[in-house]
Amino acid sequence: MASVGELKKSLGLVGTIAAIGAWIVATIWLGLTGIISAVKFLVRVRRSFATTLRCPRGHVVELYGTFRCPRCKAVREGRAFDHCGICGSRSTHLDCVRCGLAVKDPLQ
Ligand SMILES: [Zn+2]
Ligand SMILES: [Zn+2]
Repeated sequence: MASVGELKKSLGLVGTIAAIGAWIVATIWLGLTGIISAVKFLVRVRRSFATTLRCPRGHVVELYGTFRCPRCKAVREGRAFDHCGICGSRSTHLDCVRCGLAVKDPLQ
């Protein structure tokens, strides 16, 4: 029969192994979430500098040009999803010039 001292010693060893295992799992988890966040950030940076988007049917939609504000109907020149210089509202989508399907702002 194991003495109380030996029992405490073996539990201490199990506790240490469990702590090391938890540390390894936590480190891998934090590393993976960090990598995923970095990839998402890089995708957003790439999209924010893009000059075109693709509609659901694959047509190229220009992000620079003249656009009509959906709220005050003023025509302005610039980036599609910028704020309107007249009323300050902002489009959340564009219509594809070829098929008319909506193209969502990729940064929203
Ligand atoms: Zn406006
Ligand atoms: Zn289209």
